[in-house]
Amino acid sequence: MTVRIKNTDYQVDAAFAREIGKMCNAHAERCYQCMMCTAGCPVSYAMDLKPHQVVRFAQMGLKDLVLNCSTIWLCASCETCATRCPNEIEIVRVMDALRETAIREGIEVPEKAARAFHDSFLKVIRGRGRISELGLMTRLKWATGEMFSLSGRALADMWLGWRMFVRGKLKFFPKKTEDRQVIERMFERLDKETPPPGKGAG
Ligand code: SF4
Ligand code: SF4
Repeated sequence: MTVRIKNTDYQVDAAFAREIGKMCNAHAERCYQCMMCTAGCPVSYAMDLKPHQVVRFAQMGLKDLVLNCSTIWLCASCETCATRCPNEIEIVRVMDALRETAIREGIEVPEKAARAFHDSFLKVIRGRGRISELGLMTRLKWATGEMFSLSGRALADMWLGWRMFVRGKLKFFPKKTEDRQVIERMFERLDKETPPPGKGAG
């Protein structure tokens, strides 16, 4: 079965809808499309699908549509939508599940910088057990090729970083989480359960 949206036919994939539902356990079936989430979302103006549409299309199993949209990469995980939702649907969890599935399936990410941020963030957490602003920015700049760039944005970020440093907001050697083995075990389990495409389940 297919559904036509904006002159494109999308295959309905019931297994995909079930898998996402299981992964996120966000109770998206309660959604009655009131759009309170979208109305409060600070990033919705830049999204190709609005948050309420992502919830509905994921629920319908429109895999190609939701895995290729920019929305899942632009979502800032601010939770405003969940606070506004009258049905207490955790939309961030839906976005997370879709992002992880898109990565697992090797889908080309339309928002390259957002993907670089996602990967850099997880690498810092895996290495230190907690976020380090300096570590995150260094990894991100490296991943986006801005490390040694003299573009206006790179210089503005450097200036901002310096001002944060002199105010004591950035630490060169931030603390690591004491029990990092717990974090490592969590990542190992994730690697095993959701291996990158082509590597197969462990
Ligand atoms: S606010 Fe909740 S119920 Fe309303 S459209 Fe968004 S997810 Fe659905
Ligand atoms: S969590 Fe994402 S979808 Fe929800 S309001 Fe924030 S940016 Fe928008």
